[in-house]
Amino acid sequence: MERKSIAILGGGESGVGTAILAKKEGFEIFVSDKGKIKEKYKEVLEHHEIEWEENIHSEESILTASVVMKSPGIPDNAPLVLKLKGKGVPVISEIEFASEFTSAEVIGITGSNGKTTTTKFVHHILKAGSISAGMAGNVGDSFAKQVAENDFEWYVLELSSFQLDGILNFRPKIAVLTNITADHLDRYEYSLDKYIESKFRITKNQTESDYFIYDADDENIMKWLEKNQIKAQKLPFSLEKKFENGAFLENDEIIVKINNTQFNMPTTDLSLQGKHNTKNAMAAATVAQLLRIRKQTIRESMENFQGVEHRLEKVLKINNVMYINDSKATNINATFYALESMETETVWIVGGVDKGNVYSDLLPLVNEKVKAIICLGVDNAKIMAAFGNCVDTIVETQSMGEAIKIAYKIAEKNETVLLSPACASFDLFENYEDRGRQFKEAVRNL
Ligand code: ADP
Repeated sequence: MERKSIAILGGGESGVGTAILAKKEGFEIFVSDKGKIKEKYKEVLEHHEIEWEENIHSEESILTASVVMKSPGIPDNAPLVLKLKGKGVPVISEIEFASEFTSAEVIGITGSNGKTTTTKFVHHILKAGSISAGMAGNVGDSFAKQVAENDFEWYVLELSSFQLDGILNFRPKIAVLTNITADHLDRYEYSLDKYIESKFRITKNQTESDYFIYDADDENIMKWLEKNQIKAQKLPFSLEKKFENGAFLENDEIIVKINNTQFNMPTTDLSLQGKHNTKNAMAAATVAQLLRIRKQTIRESMENFQGVEHRLEKVLKINNVMYINDSKATNINATFYALESMETETVWIVGGVDKGNVYSDLLPLVNEKVKAIICLGVDNAKIMAAFGNCVDTIVETQSMGEAIKIAYKIAEKNETVLLSPACASFDLFENYEDRGRQFKEAVRNL
C-alpha cells in the first residue's frame, strides 16, 4: 500500500504535535512554516527525523500531500489554502487529525469567553473523580501530541472556532458552548452569523447519544437553536430560567437535573465568584454529573478550584486594597463580568488595542462601581470619550509601573484595583500574559 503523506502548515504547538502523531502512525511528513519555527520545536522535529522548512511554503512538496493539516493561525483564505482546496486536497485541523487515532471520548469546550476556565474546571473535577482524563487544545500540549504519547480514556479539549473550522468527522461525546459574543470577526468576513456557525460546528457530527451543554441566557445561541436542529441531547444552563433537564439557580443554589438525578450546591460555596463563573461552574457540574462523578467529589472540587492565572486573579491585598489581575479580558464581554463581580468601589485599569469595542454596554456598571479610570494604552481616545463624564478621575499612561503607582495613590481602604483591559495587549506588551505578569510584579513592588 502506498504510504500516506501529510503536509503540515505551521510549526507551532499543533503543527509539531500533529507531526509527532503522524510519525507514529507511519505517515510521510513535511512541516512547512512561512515564518520562523521556535528552537524548541525544531529540536523536537529533528529528534523525530521529520522534514521541515521555515520562512517559505514550498508548494511542490505541499500540493502533492494526501492530506494537509493547517494550524489555527492560518486563515482559510490564505492563497496556498485556496489552492489546496481547488485541487481537492482535504485541509483539516489538528483536532480532526488527532481524533482519528484515539478511541478516547472527548469533552469539547468552545465559546467566546470562558473556554480555558471551564476546560480546567472540568479537568479538575474529573481528576478528583479518578477518571483517566487528559487536557489539551488551546491549553497546554496539543491534542495530537497527547494522543501520540498517552492513553487516556477521556480528553477535555479547549476548542477555538479556528480548530472547529477544520473538522470533518470530529465528534465530541459532550460539547459545551459557553457563550457567543462578537470576537475574531476579521477571520469571518466580519459576519457574526458566520462566526456563530463556526462555533456550532462542535455539534455537527454529534448523535442522539451525545450531549450539548449551552448557555440558555445567550441570545446568539438561542436564536441559532430556534432555527436549526441538532441531534445531541440538549442540556442548557441559565441564571434566569429553570429546566426539566439542565442547570439552573434556586434559592441561591446551583441545581443540575439530568434524568431524575439531581446535584445541588450553594453558590456561596464556589471558590470562583462572579456570575460568569457561576455559569462556568454550572457547565462543569453538568459534565461531571453526566460522568456520574460522586456528588460530594463535585462539590469539593468546586469549592477548591483555584481558577486560572490572569482571569480575575486575586494578586495581593495592600493597605486593605485588593489588586485583581484580569489581563485575559481582551473584549467587552469579559470586562463586563469582571466589573459586575466587583463588590467594592473600583479603580479600573483599561485599554490597549481596540478590537472595534462598543463601550456603551459598560456604562451602567462603570457609573455604579468605578471611582477612577486609568487608561493604559497607546491610543486612549475612545475610552476617554466613552467614560470621561462617569468619573472624577480619568488619567492616561503608557507604563504599567506608572499605572499601579497612580492606582495606589487613588485607591482607599476596602476598595479594589482591577486590571481588566477589554482590549488586546500588543501596543505595550508582548501578549496578555506579559501584561498580567507586569501588573503582578508592579503590585508586588509597591
Ligand atoms: P477563553 O479561553 O475563552 O478566552 P478564559 O477562561 O481564558 O476564556 O477567560 C477569558 C476572560 O473572560 C477572563 O477575563 C475571564 O474572567 C472572563 N470569563 C470567564 N468565563 C466567562 C464567561 N462564562 N463569560 C464571560 N466572561 C468570562
